[in-house]
Amino acid sequence: MKYIGAHVSASGGICNAILNAEAIGANAFALFTRNQRSWVSKPLAQEEVAAFRKLLVERGFDPHYVLPHDSYLINLGSPDGETLQKSRAAFLDEMQRAEQLGLHLMNFHPGSHLKKMSEEDCLDQIAGEINLALAKTQGVTAVIENTAGQGSNLGWKFEHLARIIDGVDDKSRVGVCIDTCHTIAAGYDISTEMGYNFCFDEFDRIVGFRYLRAIHLNDSKKGSGSHVDRHETLGNGAIGKAFFSRFMNDPRFDGMPIILETPDPALWKEEIAWLRGLLAG
Ligand SMILES: [Zn+2]
Ligand SMILES: [Zn+2]
Repeated sequence: MKYIGAHVSASGGICNAILNAEAIGANAFALFTRNQRSWVSKPLAQEEVAAFRKLLVERGFDPHYVLPHDSYLINLGSPDGETLQKSRAAFLDEMQRAEQLGLHLMNFHPGSHLKKMSEEDCLDQIAGEINLALAKTQGVTAVIENTAGQGSNLGWKFEHLARIIDGVDDKSRVGVCIDTCHTIAAGYDISTEMGYNFCFDEFDRIVGFRYLRAIHLNDSKKGSGSHVDRHETLGNGAIGKAFFSRFMNDPRFDGMPIILETPDPALWKEEIAWLRGLLAG
Protein backbone atom coordinates (compact mmCIF):
# COMPACT_ATOMS: atom_id res chain seq x y z
CA MET A 1 0.00 0.00 0.00
CA LYS A 2 1.12 3.51 -0.80
CA TYR A 3 0.97 6.13 1.96
CA ILE A 4 0.87 9.54 0.30
CA GLY A 5 0.78 13.08 1.62
CA ALA A 6 2.62 16.38 1.53
CA HIS A 7 4.85 18.53 3.70
CA VAL A 8 2.00 20.45 5.28
CA SER A 9 2.05 23.62 7.32
CA ALA A 10 2.17 23.37 11.11
CA SER A 11 1.63 27.08 11.45
CA GLY A 12 -0.46 27.88 14.52
CA GLY A 13 0.54 24.60 16.20
CA ILE A 14 1.59 21.08 15.24
CA CYS A 15 -1.99 19.77 15.47
CA ASN A 16 -2.81 21.92 12.46
CA ALA A 17 -0.48 19.75 10.38
CA ILE A 18 -2.81 16.79 10.99
CA LEU A 19 -5.85 18.79 9.90
CA ASN A 20 -4.03 20.14 6.85
CA ALA A 21 -3.05 16.61 5.84
CA GLU A 22 -6.59 15.36 6.29
CA ALA A 23 -7.92 18.18 4.11
CA ILE A 24 -5.86 17.05 1.11
CA GLY A 25 -6.86 13.39 1.37
CA ALA A 26 -3.46 12.27 2.67
CA ASN A 27 -2.65 9.13 4.65
CA ALA A 28 0.91 10.33 5.36
CA PHE A 29 2.46 13.76 5.94
CA ALA A 30 5.61 15.69 6.77
CA LEU A 31 5.97 18.70 9.06
CA PHE A 32 8.42 20.91 10.87
CA THR A 33 8.11 20.45 14.63
CA ARG A 34 10.01 23.70 15.30
CA ASN A 35 10.89 26.89 13.48
CA GLN A 36 12.96 25.59 10.56
CA ARG A 37 14.91 28.84 10.24
CA SER A 38 16.02 29.41 13.82
CA TRP A 39 18.63 27.70 16.02
CA VAL A 40 16.56 27.53 19.15
CA SER A 41 12.87 26.81 19.62
CA LYS A 42 10.90 26.61 22.78
CA PRO A 43 10.18 23.06 23.92
CA LEU A 44 6.90 21.43 22.94
CA ALA A 45 4.35 21.87 25.72
CA GLN A 46 3.08 18.66 27.35
CA GLU A 47 -0.50 19.56 26.40
CA GLU A 48 0.52 20.11 22.78
CA VAL A 49 2.25 16.72 22.65
CA ALA A 50 -0.76 14.97 24.16
CA ALA A 51 -3.15 16.75 21.81
CA PHE A 52 -1.04 15.79 18.77
CA ARG A 53 -0.86 12.11 19.73
CA LYS A 54 -4.62 11.99 20.38
CA LEU A 55 -5.66 13.84 17.22
CA LEU A 56 -3.35 11.73 15.06
CA VAL A 57 -5.15 8.55 16.11
CA GLU A 58 -8.59 10.17 15.95
CA ARG A 59 -8.05 11.27 12.37
CA GLY A 60 -6.84 7.83 11.34
CA PHE A 61 -3.13 8.52 10.78
CA ASP A 62 -0.50 5.92 11.66
CA PRO A 63 2.58 7.55 13.29
CA HIS A 64 4.81 5.37 11.07
CA TYR A 65 3.81 7.51 8.08
CA VAL A 66 4.54 10.89 9.67
CA LEU A 67 7.92 12.31 8.69
CA PRO A 68 9.25 15.33 10.59
CA HIS A 69 11.86 17.36 8.66
CA ASP A 70 14.75 19.05 10.46
CA SER A 71 15.71 22.72 10.44
CA TYR A 72 17.54 24.02 7.37
CA LEU A 73 20.28 25.58 9.51
CA ILE A 74 21.61 22.28 10.82
CA ASN A 75 24.89 21.16 9.23
CA LEU A 76 26.27 18.02 10.85
CA GLY A 77 29.13 18.14 8.37
CA SER A 78 30.19 21.67 9.28
CA PRO A 79 33.94 22.32 9.39
CA ASP A 80 33.25 25.20 11.81
CA GLY A 81 33.35 24.25 15.50
CA GLU A 82 30.70 26.68 16.63
CA THR A 83 28.24 25.79 13.87
CA LEU A 84 28.83 22.11 14.59
CA GLN A 85 28.04 22.61 18.28
CA LYS A 86 24.80 24.42 17.43
CA SER A 87 23.93 21.79 14.82
CA ARG A 88 24.53 18.95 17.27
CA ALA A 89 22.21 20.50 19.86
CA ALA A 90 19.50 21.34 17.31
CA PHE A 91 19.68 17.88 15.70
CA LEU A 92 19.28 16.18 19.09
CA ASP A 93 16.33 18.48 19.79
CA GLU A 94 14.73 17.43 16.47
CA MET A 95 15.19 13.74 17.32
CA GLN A 96 13.82 14.25 20.84
CA ARG A 97 10.77 16.09 19.54
CA ALA A 98 9.99 13.21 17.19
CA GLU A 99 10.37 10.81 20.12
CA GLN A 100 8.08 12.93 22.33
CA LEU A 101 5.43 12.99 19.61
CA GLY A 102 5.49 9.20 19.32
CA LEU A 103 6.97 9.33 15.81
CA HIS A 104 9.56 6.94 14.41
CA LEU A 105 11.41 8.87 11.71
CA MET A 106 13.31 12.16 11.46
CA ASN A 107 14.34 13.35 8.01
CA PHE A 108 17.42 15.55 7.62
CA HIS A 109 19.88 16.86 5.05
CA PRO A 110 23.30 15.27 5.63
CA GLY A 111 25.49 18.40 5.48
CA SER A 112 28.08 20.45 3.61
CA HIS A 113 31.86 20.54 3.83
CA LEU A 114 31.99 24.17 2.58
CA LYS A 115 35.20 23.22 0.74
CA LYS A 116 37.10 23.23 4.02
CA MET A 117 37.44 19.49 4.49
CA SER A 118 37.49 16.34 2.37
CA GLU A 119 34.24 14.61 1.37
CA GLU A 120 35.29 11.50 3.27
CA ASP A 121 36.04 13.36 6.50
CA CYS A 122 32.77 15.25 6.23
CA LEU A 123 30.73 12.05 5.69
CA ASP A 124 32.47 10.37 8.63
CA GLN A 125 31.80 13.40 10.83
CA ILE A 126 28.09 13.25 9.91
CA ALA A 127 27.98 9.56 10.88
CA GLY A 128 29.63 10.40 14.22
CA GLU A 129 27.03 13.09 14.88
CA ILE A 130 24.20 10.64 14.11
CA ASN A 131 25.74 8.21 16.63
CA LEU A 132 25.69 10.90 19.33
CA ALA A 133 21.99 11.65 18.75
CA LEU A 134 20.97 7.98 18.53
CA ALA A 135 22.67 7.29 21.86
CA LYS A 136 20.47 9.89 23.55
CA THR A 137 17.13 8.92 21.97
CA GLN A 138 14.99 5.83 21.52
CA GLY A 139 12.72 4.52 18.81
CA VAL A 140 13.46 7.23 16.23
CA THR A 141 15.35 6.49 13.02
CA ALA A 142 17.63 9.16 11.54
CA VAL A 143 16.56 9.38 7.87
CA ILE A 144 19.21 10.86 5.56
CA GLU A 145 17.80 12.68 2.53
CA ASN A 146 19.69 12.49 -0.75
CA THR A 147 20.49 15.94 -2.13
CA ALA A 148 20.78 17.66 -5.51
CA GLY A 149 24.46 18.32 -4.79
CA GLN A 150 24.13 22.09 -4.85
CA GLY A 151 27.30 23.85 -3.71
CA SER A 152 29.23 21.61 -1.34
CA ASN A 153 26.18 19.64 -0.13
CA LEU A 154 26.98 15.97 0.26
CA GLY A 155 24.52 13.09 -0.06
CA TRP A 156 23.83 13.40 -3.80
CA LYS A 157 25.75 10.25 -4.69
CA PHE A 158 24.41 6.97 -3.34
CA GLU A 159 28.01 6.24 -2.28
CA HIS A 160 27.81 9.21 0.12
CA LEU A 161 24.70 7.77 1.77
CA ALA A 162 26.34 4.34 2.02
CA ARG A 163 29.46 5.78 3.66
CA ILE A 164 27.39 7.63 6.29
CA ILE A 165 25.37 4.48 7.05
CA ASP A 166 28.61 2.53 7.27
CA GLY A 167 29.77 4.82 10.09
CA VAL A 168 26.55 4.54 12.11
CA ASP A 169 26.75 2.02 14.95
CA ASP A 170 23.05 1.15 15.22
CA LYS A 171 22.09 0.22 11.66
CA SER A 172 18.48 -0.42 12.74
CA ARG A 173 18.01 3.32 13.37
CA VAL A 174 19.50 4.86 10.26
CA GLY A 175 17.73 5.09 6.92
CA VAL A 176 17.35 7.04 3.71
CA CYS A 177 14.75 9.31 2.15
CA ILE A 178 14.94 9.54 -1.63
CA ASP A 179 13.85 12.91 -2.98
CA THR A 180 13.03 12.36 -6.67
CA CYS A 181 13.80 15.99 -7.65
CA HIS A 182 17.19 15.77 -5.96
CA THR A 183 17.79 12.38 -7.59
CA ILE A 184 17.43 13.64 -11.16
CA ALA A 185 19.27 16.89 -10.36
CA ALA A 186 22.13 14.77 -8.97
CA GLY A 187 22.45 13.02 -12.34
CA TYR A 188 20.32 9.88 -12.00
CA ASP A 189 18.00 10.34 -14.98
CA ILE A 190 14.84 8.64 -13.73
CA SER A 191 12.68 10.11 -16.50
CA THR A 192 13.16 7.09 -18.81
CA GLU A 193 12.37 3.45 -18.09
CA MET A 194 16.02 2.52 -18.54
CA GLY A 195 17.13 5.34 -16.25
CA TYR A 196 14.55 4.35 -13.64
CA ASN A 197 15.75 0.76 -13.59
CA PHE A 198 19.40 1.80 -13.53
CA CYS A 199 18.91 4.29 -10.70
CA PHE A 200 17.07 1.98 -8.34
CA ASP A 201 19.32 -0.99 -9.15
CA GLU A 202 22.26 1.25 -8.24
CA PHE A 203 20.50 2.35 -5.08
CA ASP A 204 19.90 -1.26 -4.09
CA ARG A 205 23.47 -2.30 -4.88
CA ILE A 206 25.17 0.65 -3.15
CA VAL A 207 22.81 1.50 -0.26
CA GLY A 208 20.18 -1.28 -0.15
CA PHE A 209 16.39 -0.98 -0.24
CA ARG A 210 16.34 -2.24 3.35
CA TYR A 211 17.48 1.26 4.35
CA LEU A 212 14.78 3.09 2.39
CA ARG A 213 12.38 4.68 4.87
CA ALA A 214 10.69 7.51 2.96
CA ILE A 215 10.21 9.27 -0.37
CA HIS A 216 9.94 12.93 -1.26
CA LEU A 217 7.96 12.79 -4.48
CA ASN A 218 8.61 15.89 -6.58
CA ASP A 219 9.09 16.73 -10.22
CA SER A 220 12.10 18.89 -11.09
CA LYS A 221 12.35 22.18 -12.97
CA LYS A 222 15.93 21.34 -13.98
CA GLY A 223 17.27 18.35 -15.86
CA SER A 224 19.55 15.45 -15.06
CA GLY A 225 22.91 16.48 -13.60
CA SER A 226 21.95 20.15 -13.16
CA HIS A 227 22.67 20.00 -9.38
CA VAL A 228 19.95 22.62 -9.01
CA ASP A 229 17.23 21.98 -6.43
CA ARG A 230 13.99 23.41 -7.90
CA HIS A 231 10.86 21.37 -7.31
CA GLU A 232 8.06 21.26 -9.90
CA THR A 233 4.46 20.01 -9.78
CA LEU A 234 4.12 16.32 -10.63
CA GLY A 235 4.32 15.52 -14.33
CA ASN A 236 5.25 19.07 -15.36
CA GLY A 237 9.02 18.92 -15.10
CA ALA A 238 12.10 17.02 -16.25
CA ILE A 239 10.91 13.79 -14.57
CA GLY A 240 7.58 13.66 -16.38
CA LYS A 241 4.37 11.67 -16.08
CA ALA A 242 5.63 8.19 -17.02
CA PHE A 243 7.92 8.08 -13.98
CA PHE A 244 5.04 8.59 -11.56
CA SER A 245 3.07 5.75 -13.11
CA ARG A 246 6.08 3.41 -12.81
CA PHE A 247 6.69 4.56 -9.26
CA MET A 248 3.10 4.08 -8.09
CA ASN A 249 3.09 0.51 -9.38
CA ASP A 250 6.47 -0.39 -7.89
CA PRO A 251 6.00 -2.33 -4.63
CA ARG A 252 9.49 -1.37 -3.42
CA PHE A 253 7.93 1.95 -2.37
CA ASP A 254 5.03 0.44 -0.40
CA GLY A 255 4.71 0.90 3.34
CA MET A 256 6.63 4.15 3.77
CA PRO A 257 5.66 7.84 3.80
CA ILE A 258 5.59 9.35 0.29
CA ILE A 259 5.69 13.11 0.70
CA LEU A 260 4.99 15.78 -1.91
CA GLU A 261 7.06 18.96 -1.63
CA THR A 262 5.71 20.35 -4.87
CA PRO A 263 5.49 24.14 -5.14
CA ASP A 264 1.72 24.74 -5.13
CA PRO A 265 -0.10 23.59 -1.96
CA ALA A 266 -3.41 24.37 -3.68
CA LEU A 267 -2.72 21.45 -6.05
CA TRP A 268 -1.74 18.83 -3.45
CA LYS A 269 -5.22 17.33 -3.15
CA GLU A 270 -5.42 16.96 -6.93
CA GLU A 271 -1.86 15.63 -7.22
CA ILE A 272 -2.49 12.97 -4.55
CA ALA A 273 -5.73 11.90 -6.23
CA TRP A 274 -3.93 11.75 -9.59
CA LEU A 275 -1.20 9.51 -8.12
CA ARG A 276 -3.78 7.14 -6.64
CA GLY A 277 -5.45 7.01 -10.04
CA LEU A 278 -2.20 5.73 -11.57
CA LEU A 279 -2.37 2.50 -9.57
CA ALA A 280 -2.96 -0.36 -11.98
CA GLY A 281 -5.96 -2.62 -11.48
ZN1 LIG B 1 14.59 18.10 2.66
ZN1 LIG C 1 13.00 16.79 -0.10
